[in-house]
Amino acid sequence: MDDAPDFSSATLDAEEPPSIADIAGFGANAPIRRTRPAAPRSERFVQSARSRAFRRRFYPEADAAQWADWRWQLRARIRAQAELERIFALSADERDAVARRRGALPVGITPYYASLMDRENPADPLRRTHIPVGQEYVRLPGEADDPLAEDHDAAVPGLVHRYPDRVLFLTTGTCSTYCRYCTRSRMVGDPGGEYGFSRRQWERAIAYIEAHPEIRDVLLSGGDPLTLADDKLDWLLGRLRAIRHVEFIRIGTKVPTVLPMRVTRALTKVLKRHHPLWMSLHFTHPAELTPEVAEATARLADAGIPLGSQTVLLRGVNDDIAVMKPLMQGLLRLRVKPYYLYQCDPISGSAHFRTPVSKGLEIIEGLRGHTTGYAVPQYVIDAPGGGGKIPLLPDYVAGRDGDDLILRNFEGGLYRYPDPGGRIGAERGNPMAEGAPK
Ligand code: SF4
Repeated sequence: MDDAPDFSSATLDAEEPPSIADIAGFGANAPIRRTRPAAPRSERFVQSARSRAFRRRFYPEADAAQWADWRWQLRARIRAQAELERIFALSADERDAVARRRGALPVGITPYYASLMDRENPADPLRRTHIPVGQEYVRLPGEADDPLAEDHDAAVPGLVHRYPDRVLFLTTGTCSTYCRYCTRSRMVGDPGGEYGFSRRQWERAIAYIEAHPEIRDVLLSGGDPLTLADDKLDWLLGRLRAIRHVEFIRIGTKVPTVLPMRVTRALTKVLKRHHPLWMSLHFTHPAELTPEVAEATARLADAGIPLGSQTVLLRGVNDDIAVMKPLMQGLLRLRVKPYYLYQCDPISGSAHFRTPVSKGLEIIEGLRGHTTGYAVPQYVIDAPGGGGKIPLLPDYVAGRDGDDLILRNFEGGLYRYPDPGGRIGAERGNPMAEGAPK
């Protein structure tokens, strides 16, 4: 046995995260900084009235300090059918789907995140994203377990090198909660499965980055990197920072949304040491914008970390401008710039979540011009087979009149723009001509 820290989810479920001693042999040449021990349980973290009422009803043995302790939240995750039944009135479909589930993508919901869900209504948006239903087992043509061909583009295990100047570093298979539409559902939450994560794997990935000077940007993802203990994160970020050609590092995470108390003062101190560090936060619905999440994003923003959001467009969850607009506007209030709106990837068993592409365009059209430009994310399809992100935009070109391009604005009004010699829109004719169809 080597003395590398244990990367399995069991580590995270343990009473405490690994101590600094656990990583003593973790890369002999690495500048391991001693981080402070885990934040004391007494660290104050805001608790909404809703959370408090939920805790008192379903976790009467837990005090406010425990509830605000991210390790307690991880240990108390709702995973088994009996735990689900204790809190939710499960439908027959949900009950059956939970009983049938095997392998990766387990059920996992932090008590905090469960407190945001409707206990009685299976159609509740957040509940739909986390409690399986029978449709999850229906695989349609065009769906695949790895639709983005990440495994094919893996330079070494756990490191995807698709774009020339940047890499995706899969750090762990563990998440604090498990989303039923996850692009990496083939690998997350299954510690004994095909995708192992180890110190050696990290070392190989780092060695690959060191040997490729064209890599200037490293995106840490998983699983969720913020489920790693502070010591490990500090070590990894330090090793990456020490590579001269790595200009900046990004972290993709859902933790601030589903486990906001993980954003401790100790964590932000670790993160601050490794600037420039950016973060992409996974948000789904305005119900997630709670006082707890506001506290977490404020701590991250105050640590100087630019925050962007990523949202997956999901049928019956957020495929409505009346949902998406308050989400995007609310994110701006939390100092999070809406970054990407993703068309749902064709993961096996995800058809019930996917909308027609026209729905995404309709939502972008409902935002652009109707609210602050900063609140408009980029709508993209991650092309199946590894084609990368392809942006989609509503079509605002209405036609052409000689050297004038005719454009349609957000209210449907037509406007001329001088574009001498241009051809764009010529095939559509002149919608401003007398008698043109309106
Ligand atoms: S948090 Fe991210 S990686 Fe984890 S299950 Fe959800 S979408 Fe997948």
